[in-house]
Amino acid sequence: MTLAGKKPNLLDLSFHQLEALLVSLGEPPFRARQVWQWLWQKAVASPLSMTNLSKALRERLAEAAEIRMPRVAQKLESSDGTVKFVLDLDEGENAASIETVLIPEKTHYTQCLSTQAGCAMACTFCRTGQMGLTRNLTPGEILGQILVAKAHLAAVDTRLNLRNLVFMGMGEPLLNYNNLLQAIEALHHPQGLDFSTRRITVSTVGIVPGILEFGRSGMGALAVSLHAPTQELREKIMPKAAKALPLNKLIETLKQIPLKPRETITFEYVLLGGVNDSLQQAKELVRILSHVKGKVNLIAYNESPGLPYKTPDPAAVEAFQKALWDKGITVTLRKSKGRDIFAACGQLLAAHEMGEEKE
Ligand code: SAH
Repeated sequence: MTLAGKKPNLLDLSFHQLEALLVSLGEPPFRARQVWQWLWQKAVASPLSMTNLSKALRERLAEAAEIRMPRVAQKLESSDGTVKFVLDLDEGENAASIETVLIPEKTHYTQCLSTQAGCAMACTFCRTGQMGLTRNLTPGEILGQILVAKAHLAAVDTRLNLRNLVFMGMGEPLLNYNNLLQAIEALHHPQGLDFSTRRITVSTVGIVPGILEFGRSGMGALAVSLHAPTQELREKIMPKAAKALPLNKLIETLKQIPLKPRETITFEYVLLGGVNDSLQQAKELVRILSHVKGKVNLIAYNESPGLPYKTPDPAAVEAFQKALWDKGITVTLRKSKGRDIFAACGQLLAAHEMGEEKE
């Protein structure tokens, strides 16, 4: 641990905590707004660069705290424009590596964010699941991923904005609930990154009570990684999640989440060739969907070295999609991006961290 590492990271503070810090330095609380803008809109690297503050305050702030951004260890660009960043966080015993992915769409960018280094859920088809959990990310580390992506975009593409954020990177967001919530609260701040609720989606395997609390908070949309229409099959492919919250309880819980007229819950369903992609299973999925106001997002499995699953037959994907569609269910097929750089869903794994662990 370096001495500098012991100072609080300004990026980890909530707006209220920042106010309290400034008050403790003898400043009026409204000063927090200026500092917040420097942190989240100007993304300065040090309090000393906050030039509309007095020199004395800048120095006191730099004495009391610092700004620690994730360090870009690798930047990989896919032929389809998707960019994957491998980021190094903190140092010493808190060192960790994570990944975040920036995905170009027609009118904007979407960023896929990590909430944990590794993941404890051990879903059998997911690369990150094979790593185990290293640790939770702090609020500043969650948000730091966005600062990194924005700095990249400012240099390479000023035409399109970063507009949508999906918490679908490494980790189970609802198992890092407090830090996730603080990060999302900061995201909404108009003097900060200023993302609207509608542009934020949290994906979860279904964790109680987090799923209910988040659903009721109205702070973002929910996506549920379902992947199987029966408890038996779900237990086979995502044993930990399915045992902790059985399918019938998951559905009961989702029913308790209030949805505005045009809101729905998204069910993510990774089609695993020969495992969960039959017409019979599509029918069972239809039955589940009759209980919840939801839509289905199908994803054809991205094969991952060392994992026993196969990409489904394109004909099976089409038939599965049609079976849902014919029953009036809104269904989309997510196109995987960034496969050539292992940035696609479920392929996120900071390989060099695995190397470090062995040292
Ligand atoms: N833990 C949360 C957040 C991660 S989201 C969750 O599971 O919802 C990652 C998404 O990618 C999930 O829907 C997951 O099931 C899906 N996924 C994982 N591995 C995949 C793979 N190899 N191919 C396609 N999708 C995958």
